[in-house]
Order: sequence, then C-alpha cells, then structure tokens
Amino acid sequence: MMCTGRVDFTFIFRSFAKRADGVFIAGCRLDECKYITHGNYHTLNTVLLTKRLMEYFGLNPDRLRIEFMSSAEGGRFAETVNDFVKQVRSIGPLGKSEGLDEGELTSKLNQVTTLIPYIKIAKKDKLSSQLKNPDLWDQLFTREEIDALFRELPSYYIDPEKCQACMTCARRCPVEAISGGKNLIHIVDQEKCIKCGTCLEVCPPKFSAVTKLIGQPVPPPVPEEKRTIVRKGKGKES
Ligand code: SF4
Ligand code: SF4
Repeated sequence: MMCTGRVDFTFIFRSFAKRADGVFIAGCRLDECKYITHGNYHTLNTVLLTKRLMEYFGLNPDRLRIEFMSSAEGGRFAETVNDFVKQVRSIGPLGKSEGLDEGELTSKLNQVTTLIPYIKIAKKDKLSSQLKNPDLWDQLFTREEIDALFRELPSYYIDPEKCQACMTCARRCPVEAISGGKNLIHIVDQEKCIKCGTCLEVCPPKFSAVTKLIGQPVPPPVPEEKRTIVRKGKGKES
C-alpha cells in the first residue's frame, strides 16, 4: 500500500481468516509521514486495538506486529522480518496453538469481522490518537474496556406494534440486515446486523419503532403470517 494508513482491521482479520499464522506491518517512521496525514499513527492504533481484540477472542496477540522504518533501512527490515518469522514459528499454527479447532477459529474470526463497524464507531476517538511515547501504547486500549465493549454490545429491534413499513430503515441499512416490504412489518436479522445504529437514527420520530437493547434478549421476530400491517380506516388488510 502507498501508506500504512490504508491498513484496516478487515485486512488483518482477513489474513488470519486465510490462515496466515502472523501479520507484519511495516510503515514509515512516526512523525515522518510523507502525506501529512499521519496515517501511520492510525495504523498503530488499529494494531493496538486489534491485539486486544485478538486477546479477547483467544488468539495470541504476538501474531501481529507493527514496526516503523524508512525505505533506506533494508537491513533492519530484513532483520525485523526474520525475527518476526522466528517468533511466529515458535507460537505455532494459528488456532491449533490456542486450543481452537477449525470451526471455533472460523466462528471467532467471523464474529469479530462482523463487529468491526461497531468497534470503529465505539473507539473512533482513541483511534485518532497520536501517542508519541511508546511506553503509553500498551495502555491506549485496556482489557477492561474491551470486556465492557462486548458486554455492552447493542442489538437493534423493531417493535412490530410501531413499525409502519415506511421502508426507510431497510433502504439505509448498509448490510441489508432488515427484511421488509410494502405494508410488511420490518425485521432485523440479528446475524447480519453490524450494530451501526443507522436504523435507529433514520426511523421517523413519529413512528420511533427501533429500539436499542443492551444486556437484554431480543424478542423473537413476529411470525410471517402476522407481518402485514392493517391500516386504521381501511377496514381490511392493505
Ligand atoms: S443497526 Fe440497523 S441499520 Fe445497522 S446493520 Fe443493524 S439493522 Fe442494519
Ligand atoms: S423506518 Fe421505522 S417505521 Fe419505517 S420500516 Fe423501519 S422500523 Fe418501520
């Protein structure tokens, strides 16, 4: 990539999903950004958060490393890569070394990948930090806050009594997680939902049909035969 700032969480987790045993990111030295955007700080923060997410999901965070160097440091680059390869070899194969079978590993990686938009929104302020002191990097994201992040994981639920099938939420959902249609009560597919909160924002206030639930179960979806909305004054199902 032209800049490490382009490295996204999804790139890292996709590498692990393709069964890379380690991911190494080399970027320009901090405070020497060619584009003045300081994208390397953003990637540093992405890596620090990804390491905590890996811990949370039972993966060894040492499988991921970021180093900053200039293009003139070929010798250092080679040494660092060799050292990382040695480290990853000593950790062993992804998943197996962590006591996870293939199914568990796939499920954990799918789970974290689905939640990346939520995680980015929740941690957007810290992701734009520029911590110059390496001694502070380890404290930017704590284990406790990652535990809280998942403990407070929201679910979005459409109240069948309030939904008026205006279809706004289904049109605006970025991952097509809302099923609906004309005169049909809309339903959130919890498996597909990436917790972006857009449906809550766009549901017209006069309907206020979307609720954010934290720490409570999502009510079961309304059965198919009861999804058609009966409008007042029409006397029959429309
Ligand atoms: S929060 Fe709402 S808009 Fe966002 S992905 Fe989930 S269902 Fe779709
Ligand atoms: S925006 Fe609100 S009222 Fe409109 S379909 Fe979605 S949940 Fe129903």
